[in-house]
Amino acid sequence: MVYGNMGDDCATGVAFTRDPATGEKKFYGEYLINAQGEDVVAGVRTPQPVNNSTRSDASQITLESVMPEPYNELVTIYKKLEDHYLDMQDIEFTIQKGRLWMLQTRNGKRTAAAAVRIAVEMEEEGMIDKETAVMRVEPDQLDQLLHPTFDPKAEKKVVTKGLPASPGAATGKIVFHADEAEEWVEKGEDVILVRIETSPEDIGGMNVAKGILTARGGMTSHAAVVARGMGTCCVAGCGDLKIDYKEKTMTVDGKIFNEGDWISLDGSEGLVIDGKVATVTAELSGNFGTLMSWADGIRRLNVRTNSDTPHDSKVARDFGAEGIGLCRTEHMFFEGDRIKAVREMILADDEAGRRNALAKLLPYQRDDFYGIFKAMHDLPVTIRTLDPPLHEFLPHEEENQQEMAKEMGISLAEVKEKVESLHEFNPMLGHRGCRLGVTYPEITEMQARAIMEAACQLKSEGVNVLPEIMIPLIGTKAELANQKAVVIEVVEKVQEEKGVKVDYLVGTMIEIPRAALTANEVAEEADFFSFGTNDLTQMAFGYSRDDAGKFLKEYDEKGILPDDPFQTLDQTGVGQLVEMAVKKGRSVKPDLKTGICGEHGGDPRSVEFCHNVGLNYVSCSPYRVPIARLAAAQAVIKNK
Ligand code: PEP
Ligand code: MG
Repeated sequence: MVYGNMGDDCATGVAFTRDPATGEKKFYGEYLINAQGEDVVAGVRTPQPVNNSTRSDASQITLESVMPEPYNELVTIYKKLEDHYLDMQDIEFTIQKGRLWMLQTRNGKRTAAAAVRIAVEMEEEGMIDKETAVMRVEPDQLDQLLHPTFDPKAEKKVVTKGLPASPGAATGKIVFHADEAEEWVEKGEDVILVRIETSPEDIGGMNVAKGILTARGGMTSHAAVVARGMGTCCVAGCGDLKIDYKEKTMTVDGKIFNEGDWISLDGSEGLVIDGKVATVTAELSGNFGTLMSWADGIRRLNVRTNSDTPHDSKVARDFGAEGIGLCRTEHMFFEGDRIKAVREMILADDEAGRRNALAKLLPYQRDDFYGIFKAMHDLPVTIRTLDPPLHEFLPHEEENQQEMAKEMGISLAEVKEKVESLHEFNPMLGHRGCRLGVTYPEITEMQARAIMEAACQLKSEGVNVLPEIMIPLIGTKAELANQKAVVIEVVEKVQEEKGVKVDYLVGTMIEIPRAALTANEVAEEADFFSFGTNDLTQMAFGYSRDDAGKFLKEYDEKGILPDDPFQTLDQTGVGQLVEMAVKKGRSVKPDLKTGICGEHGGDPRSVEFCHNVGLNYVSCSPYRVPIARLAAAQAVIKNK
């Protein structure tokens, strides 16, 4: 036992061999004269910096100046320790009667920025190789670098906790309706959109909000998926919130928040915070690019993105996406005048009426695809035909139904009747996915035409396009064959009309257990498989992806499930379906291209699983692309 509190020739301190906040190569630490170890961290006395180069003002008395000899010895030792452990060290020391004693050394905790800088600089200094450098950064940590965070010095009054659905930090005024969010933002306000849950009609408001907060829904709920795609901070499934749309209030633990009140969200931790908290924007340094290029040199998996706008596609491409793995076309159906045409189609009594409405949508869809193909030139773009049940495109609140009736020149009763007729007890197991295309082939036709017209146009402008048309939610080979025939007939016709030849693929999502079980049959019709692990998880577990948040928290607390299966792929169960489908598919087509486009495509542990079962690519939201690139490289190193 040595003592640092035996007089003024004694001291104790902690130090890092490099700056744990920035990674800068400088010896950095604090000490106290005549003190015990805990005094430094207890905050009772203010510790002083160990050396002159790190002090913030000249009045600070450094160890270097008051005890130069032990200080110099400490410098020699810290260098030796770092050279031995080949990593940044967190050390504790005591000086007893002028003599230095080392108490402890361990690899130091660090911020993401520091982890990246230290890894790259240690490689450049010849201490570690590139593979070790790539393993030194936790992929999930990169989130800290890609999104804004709260100023670490700011005070935070946490009022409740939900699911950390989309990372980042956001601060803004509460609004309860998506259209109001748009109006407020137009007036220059920062807003947080607070909803019981979101639906596709809220896209406009979600797009402009700084953050999104919902009372219901899990990690793959609409709010969570869309927010991650947009890179917008989101806290979902916050069960403690009582939201009253009429009164425009949100109540938590007895405290009432009104429209216009400031709140802040920490989407990385799932925190809801009272009031305004300062945020700091992310900065990507050169070291980040260096580390990512090393990861790219190692990984085997391709990394694509889930994106449905030219803007998001560009963001993802800048983050290193090598194509689009999922373009959800329904998101495009809500913007501007399109929703009117969509509703006209839904209300139509016969095929002729539907075709009439679809003809109005065609130019919009063509422009959408044109923009996306252009942003992703030379890279594959997987476009999925319409997936959600049609009732999602109709308003459910009377006020909006009234508005729709007026706009369409029909009675409120007619709107209500249509909404009623589309009601399903289990919409996620209902009339959606390829089932829509089977019953209304004209929808698939319109989408296939829009895709190919855009592709031919770009090809004739000299832009290289690689369209991959994907049929969702198939459970049988016959469903895929049916939709594939519709697609092929249209796209061949368009190419003939335009006199342009475009190579394309027609594949399918594997997101129903039966499709996985019969993958050898399905593969006969498919150019590629993309695993929709959100639905596959939902259907394998029998947990509704929109409601499971209610009990999964308790499952976690009680240790019933090791992880939220909607975040990290359940390798034991759902993973078996994936692995089996890859094997069965490739038994028929050895080169069958396989990927994943469920939310798991951006989860590091799930990415490693995808590498191990031999998928060709993972696809994730734009802001998770760097995370997936790093995780894919680590999967190679770990499984050598
Ligand atoms: C999925 O089910 O995994 C998927 C990607 O499709 P969506 O989330 O749109 O249902
Ligand atoms: Mg799905």
